[in-house]
Amino acid sequence: MADGTQRVIDPQDGLVIGGKVVKTTDRFDVINPATALPYATAPRADKAQLDLAVDAAQVAFQSWRTLSWDARADMIHAFADAIEANSSELATLIVLEQGKPLASANGEVTSGVKFLRGLADIRLPDEVVESAGRDVRIVRTPLGVVAAITPWNYPVLIPLWKLAPALVTGNTVILKPAETTPLTALWLGRLAQEHFPPGVLNVITGPGLGQELTRHAGIRKISFTGSSTTGQHVLRASAEDFKRVTLEMGGNDAAILLPGFDLNVQGPQLFNSAFANMGQVCVAIKRLIVHDSLYDGVCAALRVEADKLVIGDGMTTGVTAGPVQNEQSFREVGDLIARAQEFGTIVHQIKAPDGPGYFLAPTIVGDVDPNSQLWREEPFGPILPIVRYSDIEDAIALANDDKFGLGGSVWSSDPAEAASVARRLDAGTVWTNTHPAMSPNIPLPGIKMSGVGVEFSHHGLAEFTDLRVHNFATAI
Ligand code: ADP
Repeated sequence: MADGTQRVIDPQDGLVIGGKVVKTTDRFDVINPATALPYATAPRADKAQLDLAVDAAQVAFQSWRTLSWDARADMIHAFADAIEANSSELATLIVLEQGKPLASANGEVTSGVKFLRGLADIRLPDEVVESAGRDVRIVRTPLGVVAAITPWNYPVLIPLWKLAPALVTGNTVILKPAETTPLTALWLGRLAQEHFPPGVLNVITGPGLGQELTRHAGIRKISFTGSSTTGQHVLRASAEDFKRVTLEMGGNDAAILLPGFDLNVQGPQLFNSAFANMGQVCVAIKRLIVHDSLYDGVCAALRVEADKLVIGDGMTTGVTAGPVQNEQSFREVGDLIARAQEFGTIVHQIKAPDGPGYFLAPTIVGDVDPNSQLWREEPFGPILPIVRYSDIEDAIALANDDKFGLGGSVWSSDPAEAASVARRLDAGTVWTNTHPAMSPNIPLPGIKMSGVGVEFSHHGLAEFTDLRVHNFATAI
């Protein structure tokens, strides 16, 4: 296809280790989800190259940790400038390997840069615990080499969420992207070499590396985003030498619509909260709980929005929704969509383009059985189940009856009522009349099976440091 791949990244290029591009003997196919065909290959790192990357990061750590925070932040800002200057190439690459429409890919780059800059500007100053008679303070020091293990739904945004806090606090990094989206990470890694000393940011790609990294004695911290099952593997492997971990995992976010909610104003927002990025968002609405009085209106509003979707190859002008990212999602979510009638009543379904790409038919299912697979398991794709309620106590109980606790939302025209329901939802973040909304200065905690630790804000940065105490007996 005339996709500009050669211009975007040279398929003969290699891993990024110690400031150099390192060729591999093996390579693996990268599939364009809009065609289901390979459009490039990526380097497959072997164990020796993984060790080389860890060594390079360990060496770089010794001097990187001694720089001031401001000096490190300046380099991160220079990296952000370079991403902005090359953003159209990066956005194209996102479309080719992830599938989202070009406008959304551009939005992902813009958001990534915003997080990169915002997180680089946070500081963790010494905390003075005592100053009379002696000087006792808490200081934050970097950990060492951080492995950033990232998923495929936001192949630029999520790595940048991890790079900025890891680097500004003085750690060096090995970025290991998902196997199906390796080229954006390599692109970021190559661009970074112009702005950081060698070995500060290394990128390795290939299947099976995540497991090797979590077991590697040279790594001090794992920052992971992915499924809960993989998160459990990461946590178990980390126990061997007590690596620090931050794990951001799945969510099965509930949204409760209270009576009186103005659908005319919020219909598009509600729809996008469930179907943006083809539903492949950890903090998307995955369970909609609607008051009886609104049920028909909600179904009608969602139908109107669904009908506006233009599904196709993300590089095609006018397309607003792409394929799902990979063959496994295509099969698994496709199976749920095919069985939609088992779970409830089909409210609406948009026809997907015929293959060969991984295109699925966005589907809204009403009156879903809350014991069904569709309600209980995070459907990571374009299918939205709805349940109706008449008593708010039932709605809250239903929302909280879930193993996950990432996000949740309440939609209401009455702020006081919304706030009182929001306080009772078991989720790391509860939004009102939006879902999600994230910023570098606002923590993103996952509770229950959704996470260990926090991303963003000074709380998130602190997780990339050791807490140490300096106790000076100043008065003798
Ligand atoms: P998803 O459902 O988003 O594909 P995964 O949890 O499978 O999520 O993958 C997220 C990231 O974790 C990817 O980079 C993947 O390669 C990596 N990964 C997969 N298995 C392991 C493992 N056992 N240990 C560490 N990382 C892993």
